[in-house]
This record gives sequence, structure tokens and C-alpha cells, in this order.
Amino acid sequence: MKLDVDVLRYLTKEDFRVLTAVEMGMRNHEIVPAELIERIAALKHGGTYKVMKNLLKHKLLHHDASKYDGFRLTYLGYDFLAIKTLVNRGVFSAVGRQLGVGKESDIFEVATEDGTVMAMKLHRLGRTSFRAVKSKRDYLKHRSSFNWLYLSRLAALREFSFMKALEEHGFPVPNAVDCNRHCVIMSLVPGYPLVQVKQLENPEIVFNTIIGIVVRLAEHGLIHCDFNEFNIMIDDDEKVTMIDFPQMVSVSHRNAQMYFDRDVECVFKFFSKRFNMSFHECTADIDGTAVDTDDSGRPSFTSIAKDTGFLDKELSASGFTKKDHEEIAKFIEGGIKKDASSDDEDTEDVGDTEDDEHTSVLNEANTMGIDSLQVVDQVLQHDEQVELEGNVRTCEGGPSSEPENEDSRNEEGDDETVDDDNDAELEKRLNKVRRRAVTAARGGRKTFASRNTYKDKGGKSSNSSKIQRQLSSW
Ligand code: ADP
Ligand code: MG
Repeated sequence: MKLDVDVLRYLTKEDFRVLTAVEMGMRNHEIVPAELIERIAALKHGGTYKVMKNLLKHKLLHHDASKYDGFRLTYLGYDFLAIKTLVNRGVFSAVGRQLGVGKESDIFEVATEDGTVMAMKLHRLGRTSFRAVKSKRDYLKHRSSFNWLYLSRLAALREFSFMKALEEHGFPVPNAVDCNRHCVIMSLVPGYPLVQVKQLENPEIVFNTIIGIVVRLAEHGLIHCDFNEFNIMIDDDEKVTMIDFPQMVSVSHRNAQMYFDRDVECVFKFFSKRFNMSFHECTADIDGTAVDTDDSGRPSFTSIAKDTGFLDKELSASGFTKKDHEEIAKFIEGGIKKDASSDDEDTEDVGDTEDDEHTSVLNEANTMGIDSLQVVDQVLQHDEQVELEGNVRTCEGGPSSEPENEDSRNEEGDDETVDDDNDAELEKRLNKVRRRAVTAARGGRKTFASRNTYKDKGGKSSNSSKIQRQLSSW
């Protein structure tokens, strides 16, 4: 997806005020009535329509007049809200080239004013070329409410939380710097995805390190679930970094064994094909350690001593409610099951252009729930944000009001009445998470000692330890 950040430079305060008003309106409306946007933004001299036209021109909003005259955010609009917020926080001040296109994400370089380069991952759940979409749609069929932006946001927070926790436990992962909406900022991993590497000086060592990571993850109660040559980065010194964690599951998941075996199998298969490795030889390295293997040298899931509390603890520490967790878990499961079972035959290409894709899926969706992690997203100055929140309350009778839109009434309505309390609590927790992330980025953490020769050696890269909190010209 194109991310023309030059547009960002030309956006005015009013543009962001209206964009924020649409985001707030999307808490209760799939398509936010134009009139409501105008009332929330409350621009002087009725300038909201002119601003909406400008936002539409830059594809930050999508216009929908099928039921009534209304608008919703596009992914680009959501990108700009996240980017603006992070720039305002001083996390970075420039966006550079695109580093990668994931299955459901776009990754860009970002830089601070002192030249520190980091990676920005924008989650794009619902990207329709992704082969798992069909099974995700099966899941959606049983839902009365749904929102891709909301799920992308949950996926980002989930990934950020895991990355931070894994780093603290000495796993070789990028340094988790910050997170806003569907956007995760992390250190730039040097090197390439393993899939691009044709030759290794020490394939056995790299292989052992990688399998060691899978085993050690399980010991910490986690299974990556997408552990393959696309999600393992390797640098010129053959140092391994694992990436891409939003889909991780707990070892107590009912399909844990299958997911674990599948992760292991991916690594075995790849090393056998690409580096002609035969595994009986390699497994001699791990004889006598805590990890049992089967005849073919694959580590045995049942013999690993697993600590199962990790996942729940980390997620709840990051502000995830039980419901958030269930929502994203169901969605993710659709994806990882599908990945396991087939390749491309079920791919559904719904649209040709990015915006068409997002439009088509977003239009099927309902948008309740977008506000559950809303409070830390201040694009505007604090008092302006408060003012707009006040306008939402006046227009809609507060967050506890029934949505006026029939489609958006759903079983999640109950939770809305406690939003204010939850929001305050959530804001506190998220701020804590952020502070810890920044501290970790500045200071570094101890790594766990390795009990097992089969394990990676932990440690973490230091290239990302500087986060400059600078004011930006944006
Ligand atoms: P997805 O979840 O969509 O698969 P990934 O997290 O795997 O996304 O990222 C997609 C690609 O972007 C990776 O294969 C890698 O090339 C690149 N990438 C992701 N994170 C980083 C990073 N921190 N540093 C450098 N490149 C990255
Ligand atoms: Mg990936």
C-alpha cells in the first residue's frame, strides 16, 4: 500500500480534528453520518465539509452514501492518525522507504531526528489477498459485529506486548519501542529474511539456534505459530532474530502440539532443502540435554517443561481485556489453521487496488468496539481531545448510549456502560507498558541463562537503544 507521507505535511490542524472526529464516530457507527462528524469536530464557520472533501481527495476517508450520507476512515487515514500521534510523542520524525510487505502488514523505515532508523509495522488485517481470508470470513459469518481497524489494533498491541516480553526474557527479537493504534515501532533488524539466504557459513549452528528458540518459547508457554524462513531474520554474522508475533498461542491451547510440530517441521524442511542438512547428525549436539527428540531428531513437545502462565500475564499487563483476547484469538485461529491446511486454492481476490480491497471488506463489517483501546491515541492537544470527547457525549449521549445505527447494535453493548472507568484504568496500564518499553529501549535487560545447548544464546541488539523524544515539524 502506498504511504505518501508528504500529504501529512500539508494536513492542517482542522484536517486532524475532523479525522479524529470520524474515528470517534466509528465507535458507534460503521459509517459515520456526515452530520455527526460535523457536530463532533465543531469547526468554526461550518468548515467541516470542506475539510472532509480534502480528506476524501487524499483517500484518508471513504464516502458511503448507500444508507445515508456518511464517511469512514480508510487504512491510510488510520495510518496517518497513528503516525501523527507517534510523531507528536517524539518517537520518530520521518518515514522512509518500505522495508517489506507482509501477509497482513506493511513495514516502513522510520527515523528520529538524530538519524536512528527503526521499523514501523502497520497491521492490515483483512488484506484480502491473504489466503486465510476465507476461513476468517467463515468466522465473520457468525459475528454480528466486526471491524478490521479494531482487529488490526488488537493485533498490533498483541505483537508489541509479546515482543517486549520476549525481549525481556532474552529472546532474539526486535526491540519493541512503541505502539499506537495498528502501528508498532521496533528496532530495525539488520540482515535479511532467511528465505533470501542462499548460503550459510555455519548452517548447523544457525539451525540449532533456531530450533532452540522454538523449544525455549515452549518452555515459556508460547508457540509462535508462523515460525518459518519468512519470519526469521539473519545478519551477516549469521545472528538470528525472530519477528512477527501477533498470532502466537499458549502451550495450553488445544491444538498446541500440532502448532509446535508445524513450526518445528517448517525449520527442518527448509534446512533440509536449502542447505542439504541431515538431522540425525545434528541431533547428536543435543543428546543429554533437557530436550528429548523423536527418531528423526525433532524435539518432542510433550517432553518440554512448560510454564503456562506467561501469555495470559503478559497480555493482561498490556491492557487486553478477556474479550479483546477472545476476539483476536478467534480471528487468529482462523488464519493459522488455514495456513496449516492449504495453499493458494482458497485465495479470494476481492479487489484490485488496496483501497478497493479494504473497502470491500470494511463494507461487510460492522464497527463496534473500536474504542476499547482508544484513550491513548491523542493526535490532538489534550484539551482539544477532551473537547471532542465532550462533543461525542453531547451528540450521542456518551459512550454508554445505544448506537443509533441498527447494524451496530450487538452483544458487546453491555461493556459500553463501563467504558469511562475502564478507559482510565486502561490508560494507566498502557502508559505503564509504554514507560517500560522506553526504559527497556534505553537501558537494556538481563537475559536468561541458557540451560540447554539446544537453545539460542539470548542477548539483544543494541542498535536501537536510542529513542529521541523530539518535537517534530509535523
Ligand atoms: P507479516 O506479519 O505481515 O508477515 P512481518 O512482521 O513478518 O509481517 O514483516 C514482513 C517483512 O518485513 C519481513 O519479512 C521483513 O523482511 C520485514 N521486516 C519486518 N520487521 C522488520 C524489522 N524490525 N526490521 C527489518 N525488517 C523487518
Ligand atoms: Mg511475516
